[in-house]
Amino acid sequence: MKLVFLGPPGAGKGTQAAAAAEKFGLRHASTGDIFRQAAAEGSQLGVAVKDYLDAGRLVPDELTSRVVEQMVVSRTEDYILDGYPRTLQQGRDLDEMLRRRGEHLDAALYYRLDDREAVRRLTGRLVCTRCGVNYHRQFVPPRADGVCDKCGGGLSVRSDSSEEVVRERLAEYHGKTEPLVAFYEEQGLLEQVDASAGPEEVTRRTEAVLARIAAD
Ligand SMILES: [Zn+2]
Repeated sequence: MKLVFLGPPGAGKGTQAAAAAEKFGLRHASTGDIFRQAAAEGSQLGVAVKDYLDAGRLVPDELTSRVVEQMVVSRTEDYILDGYPRTLQQGRDLDEMLRRRGEHLDAALYYRLDDREAVRRLTGRLVCTRCGVNYHRQFVPPRADGVCDKCGGGLSVRSDSSEEVVRERLAEYHGKTEPLVAFYEEQGLLEQVDASAGPEEVTRRTEAVLARIAAD
């Protein structure tokens, strides 16, 4: 199976991709890992990617697509792409590189989660200022409010967990990535998974969808 996993930040698609890859014997190809691997291998593309990563800048669509082609699509194994495509242009690039190889995607799994729930999940993250242990106000709360269970240090909101940062990420997702949902729906490849349940339940739903696709 060749699969794409889509969804907003907070939907847990990375966790689901890792579990599904293990269960179905697929490669879990997350964009972050692919970039790091390409940079470590020191190929021409990898060096170009490293320049962007080191500068903390977004890797452009064209370069991203070339790296994904070199590191994933051109290899023979089956895979789950996690974090790619993240724009409509990347979606078209992926179609084109598959077409050149006489291949096609089997499905795009779309992890649906509304903004309210995404914000609730992403903004509650706390970190101990002394020992670095992570908590979540709702899902992994400390025993005493604002105090680390392990060392008694003070807890603060993680820098990537402020409401402003989370809202920015969601706006970026809606603007750039969400159009891929309609793109895959038109191709008859979209499989929707309700991601509002807990992770074990979402894993069961994912496995049911993939078992059906694998049997086709
Ligand atoms: Zn601590």
